[in-house]
Amino acid sequence: MSFAMFGIGVSGGIAIGPARLLSHTSLEVAHYAVPEDQFDREVARFDSAVSEVRGGLESLRETVPPGAPAEVDAFLQLHLMILNDSTLSEAPRALIVQQGCNAEWALKQQMDNLIRQFEAIEDTYLRERQADVVQVVERVLKALLGTTTTVSGSGGRDMPGILVAHDLSPADMMLFKQQSFAAFITDVGGATSHTAIMARSLNIPSVVALHHAWPLVRENEILIVDGRQGVVLVNPDRQVLTEYRLRQEQWDLERQKLKRLRSTRATTLDGVDVQLHANIELPADVDQVRKSGATGIGLFRSEFLFMNRPDLPDENEQFAAYRAVAEAMRGMPVTIRSLDIGNDKPIEQGPRVTNNPALGLRAVRYCLSEPRLFNAQLRAILRASHYGKVRLLIPMLCSRAELDQTLAMLDQARAQLREEGVPFDEQLPVGGMIEIPAAALALEALLERLDFLSIGTNDLIQYTLAIDRTDDSVAHLYDPLHPAVLFLIAHVIRTANKHAVPVSVCGEMAGDPQLTRLLLGFGLRNFSMHPNHLPMVKQVVLTTTLADTESTARRILSAHTQERISQLLGKLNA
Ligand code: PEP
Ligand code: MG
Repeated sequence: MSFAMFGIGVSGGIAIGPARLLSHTSLEVAHYAVPEDQFDREVARFDSAVSEVRGGLESLRETVPPGAPAEVDAFLQLHLMILNDSTLSEAPRALIVQQGCNAEWALKQQMDNLIRQFEAIEDTYLRERQADVVQVVERVLKALLGTTTTVSGSGGRDMPGILVAHDLSPADMMLFKQQSFAAFITDVGGATSHTAIMARSLNIPSVVALHHAWPLVRENEILIVDGRQGVVLVNPDRQVLTEYRLRQEQWDLERQKLKRLRSTRATTLDGVDVQLHANIELPADVDQVRKSGATGIGLFRSEFLFMNRPDLPDENEQFAAYRAVAEAMRGMPVTIRSLDIGNDKPIEQGPRVTNNPALGLRAVRYCLSEPRLFNAQLRAILRASHYGKVRLLIPMLCSRAELDQTLAMLDQARAQLREEGVPFDEQLPVGGMIEIPAAALALEALLERLDFLSIGTNDLIQYTLAIDRTDDSVAHLYDPLHPAVLFLIAHVIRTANKHAVPVSVCGEMAGDPQLTRLLLGFGLRNFSMHPNHLPMVKQVVLTTTLADTESTARRILSAHTQERISQLLGKLNA
């Protein structure tokens, strides 16, 4: 049966390929029957996943540096103990045979049993160890994913597959960076969730918030994913397939043409230079940045170095990563954002997950509560500043007191390095992300002590409109053109320009070519976006006369209804 599903397109382009259903988190594990003659193979698959995880944990224990806090080893020991418990390492083997089910399902049932036992424990500390059980099981599930035959990318098949998942975490997306899928589709998520942002960095079409893809789509069914329109067609007929193949070719052709702009300067028709910088997650992304023609890195989301691992990267490991990026960018600015974990970017050793993580111990709040961890990162960034044009960016600033504390910690790290004779850039510019309405409204208090600003529109919209950026049920209310959002953005740009403090936008709005002229009209001259979006935005800059944008931008700011705003925006982009 052929049918269409509608969601939110988060990464453009068209992909056609067979569905590959993914289930690898403890909460949404696939359940399928395993024929009797394959019981042994399934048990062996389970055993090998358990030994892979055991081996990984053991070798991590061996590499814990002597000076590391005792908790690191204790944590690894605890995970090994949980893994070696027969409930998880033995009982699922029997279940596979008794129930004729897949290894993932057998493991999930055992995990649920164990969690029920933990829930009955009165001791709070022990009860909270449930989270460790889940983490260990997730590790085994991930190892099973590596050996499973039901989920694969191109893996020797004719066409690269399309990954269908209920949900994917940003950490999952990191793992999928190494595999080749033609597209991603998920049931949940918003357009600016970190998973969507990661999907964009994979440079393949993706659609989120489909609600029912996971239960409705079957393995191997042919899908068409239109990432621009947010549409997924299941089992399309031949005519539709031909039509979409044509559209796919056209899209690829347009992208090829845009690539020619790579070394063209982004200058408006009235001769004003605009800086187009790139956002990255990992040092390996620098290659893509250089190919895009970006003139710097406006946002290095350093928290991705901390994901998919049980330990934290120490100062030296971080230094090596930051230095590699600084050197690879050969004198162009590299803006390293200090750790922004929490909310939808948890890490294994991060803050406790609360009911409302977006409003909880996140980003700079978390760093200030963990001075040792923060100090290691600040030292690593300072050390890397000796090898390129590094800038430090502080996420989620809300008050002057937070900024003062952060700068005091930075001074302390500087003093330590000076005393140790370690070179660093004494003039390292320090910027603040403006992504909480309070910071935008009380900007002058922050401006006094900052060298530059970067507007994080993803969070600014979330916090201004009280819309969880990861929640698909309110995704339709997530509106970058809401008058309150536009007012705050324009206010920050105007105030920064008045004080001659450089300001950029590094949220997803910066990479939307429909909004380029509006932001230019507000006075923005520096944009930072995913490198894939850069050529399209550059093309808009090259065809814009600034003088024409300013008056329409002013009119948009005083418009009250969505219709009027859309109408004026259409005029601006005509
Ligand atoms: C933002 O909030 O706009 C931003 C760029 O940061 P992140 O998306 O990583 O929260
Ligand atoms: Mg943010």
